[in-house]
Amino acid sequence: MLATKMSVAFYGHVRQYHNIKAEIDANLKEVLESGQYVLGPMLKRFEQELAEFHGTKYAIGVGNGTDALWLTFKALGIGPGDECITTTNTFFATAEAIWITGATAVFVDSEARTNCIDPAMIEAAITPRTKALVPVHLYGQCADMKAIRKIADRYHLLVIEDNAQAIGAYGDGFKIAELSDAATISFIIQKNLGTFGDGGAVVTNNPEVDRLVRKLRNHGSDQRSCHSPGYNSRLDDLHAGILSAKLRHIEEWSDLRRKWAARYSKGLAGTKNITLPYETPGYRHVYHLYVIETRQAAHRDELLKFLNEEGIDAKCHYPIAIHQQEGYPWGHEARIAGPIPNSERNAACCISLPMFPELTEEEVDYTVDRVLEWDRRVR
Ligand SMILES: *Cc1c(COP(=O)(O)O)cnc(C)c1O
Repeated sequence: MLATKMSVAFYGHVRQYHNIKAEIDANLKEVLESGQYVLGPMLKRFEQELAEFHGTKYAIGVGNGTDALWLTFKALGIGPGDECITTTNTFFATAEAIWITGATAVFVDSEARTNCIDPAMIEAAITPRTKALVPVHLYGQCADMKAIRKIADRYHLLVIEDNAQAIGAYGDGFKIAELSDAATISFIIQKNLGTFGDGGAVVTNNPEVDRLVRKLRNHGSDQRSCHSPGYNSRLDDLHAGILSAKLRHIEEWSDLRRKWAARYSKGLAGTKNITLPYETPGYRHVYHLYVIETRQAAHRDELLKFLNEEGIDAKCHYPIAIHQQEGYPWGHEARIAGPIPNSERNAACCISLPMFPELTEEEVDYTVDRVLEWDRRVR
């Protein structure tokens, strides 16, 4: 039976706002009436809540997730001459932040099933210049941090987790920021914990990272009128207020994302032409994105077009890997260590289905129905 045509959005920001409007509005009012808008008490409160949520000693609010990465790199002494090992099937900012410091990005392949960095590929890419490993917890699931930690210990490397996409996730026996020097977060609108604009944070147990990122984000100043070269990248108190209100709901929202993911996966279990997201046993995937892959790269654009025509705002994350971007590497030193077939397959075959906590059963079921219809038509 053909389902009645519906329109399914990719994001639910306005629905989310309406659901918790009173809490957000109260925090905004509090900030506006306090007269303290930058490095004020609301930021301090949110930083405490964020550290508590992660079980880390420190959390530092910054302007965005990209700044969170490169300010952390700077604080850890990463700069020209250093190499940072990461993946190319990620949002561009992961490599961009490495380049901002003057360091070199070295790309290794991702695991076929999780699409996160493949620890088995890291060792062969290590050189005397290697300074850090930068795993990305892609789509909302942690990379294999235990294996990454072992390699880092063996070669005395720093580890910075790009956790823009997986707040609230954990691995089998480890938490985010537990096995690394620091983890960075993005609060841009569409992230699982998103403000209505830009924002970011660093969470860490390292007092030096805390001290230096705090200083760097505020013109190299930790004492009135005293400066060393830094930057201006602070999380505004208005955004901190929005995030503080939303943080109270993040666990419930992660559970809802997992519920919709399970509904998608159950509905799509019999398909012949697509691969479903993989959950590593013992890990909590928080489904920033629900990413399926067409078995054949030639089918990807076809399915995407079909879904869009059926009213479903499906997207791709990320159809062009970093090393495939025009002009790569723009004069920046960058290196691909070994073949990266999994990252390239991921870029060629990925499709993100609508995923946000405020989805409805009807929207998920309609999306499943349309994917099944496409799958039936493929021969
Ligand atoms: C969103 C994102 C970033 C950058 O965050 P911004 O807040 O947009 O600067 C970095 N890395 C990954 C993997 C992301 O998804």
